[in-house]
Amino acid sequence: MKAAVYYKNSDIRVEDVDDVPVDAGEAKVKVMACGVCGSDVMEWYRIKKAGRPGGIGAFGHECTGVVTEAGSKAAKKVQVGDRVVVTHHVPCNTCSACINGHTTACQTLQSTKFKNNYGAYAEYVVVPDINVDRGILKLPDSVSFDEGTFVEPLGCVVRGQQWASPAGGKSVLVIGAGLSGLLHLQAARVNGAGFIAVSDINTDRLDVAKKFGASATIIATEDVPNRFKELNAGRGADVVVMTAPVPACVKQSLEAVGAGGTILFFAPTNPEVNSEINIWNLWQKEVTITHSYAADFRNLQTALRWIQHGRINVKDMVTQVFPLVRTQEGFVLTAQPKGGSLKVIIHPQDP
Ligand SMILES: [Zn+2]
Ligand SMILES: [Zn+2]
Repeated sequence: MKAAVYYKNSDIRVEDVDDVPVDAGEAKVKVMACGVCGSDVMEWYRIKKAGRPGGIGAFGHECTGVVTEAGSKAAKKVQVGDRVVVTHHVPCNTCSACINGHTTACQTLQSTKFKNNYGAYAEYVVVPDINVDRGILKLPDSVSFDEGTFVEPLGCVVRGQQWASPAGGKSVLVIGAGLSGLLHLQAARVNGAGFIAVSDINTDRLDVAKKFGASATIIATEDVPNRFKELNAGRGADVVVMTAPVPACVKQSLEAVGAGGTILFFAPTNPEVNSEINIWNLWQKEVTITHSYAADFRNLQTALRWIQHGRINVKDMVTQVFPLVRTQEGFVLTAQPKGGSLKVIIHPQDP
């Protein structure tokens, strides 16, 4: 079968790779759509294992498709012809992290992946036993394959707001108007936020944030924390969601949060980057600092229901749909968005 093989963001080659055998507990899915995620283009993370079989199983993880083969044991869970969302990360459900509700901090979850050697930008993906057991969602007929690719990124946002809830009309500052910032904005509305401001350096992105329901936007070259307070009747934010992973935005988060507020550090900075925290700023505010990683099955299910019932507009976030041969272009656009690009989706079956 054909698969996109990763060497670096600007070098992704479509190659003929071996078909992946399907064992009794496994299922083969014809990939109809696979979103390109910000984590796919984290080059420092991915390049270590680039071009080697088995190294980049999580390369391409926002997948939807049709089941074309189910092993004898897997047939209890899925049938040939099922339209599905498949997830690469599934928890063990028995370790202490899982038992304590931190299912995405589970070692099993973090090491599970599709069986493909070169990732899921491929004509087919083979879903391992444990993922068939607890990582496949049936796609309702009314949800398109493209919309279904948002189940994973939106699921991650659902999880983040589980730890930093805006319910009860709380004020929210979303730092960064990229895809995850815009999903956080929409999710905050569904979750019951009050005033929501979005900041970004890109004014086009701020216009998009307005369209998706931001109460106000702040250009990141301004003094973001003070501008937020001006807009929010003099008060700091009840919830700050940081989706722009640079130290300057860490600092802004700490300064923008109000009394009793919560900061969600949603996007990670690069591993060698340290950010300073001035504890004095927090001392009299009783602030909670939290973060989240990935999504568990419950988060994914919530995301799917929100998409299915039109609570979140994902359709208008898709700006490019490319065939497999143009995967590299999709990566470059995701790493350095241009011309209003927001979400790129790869269609491996398109010529
Ligand atoms: Zn993702
Ligand atoms: Zn576990």
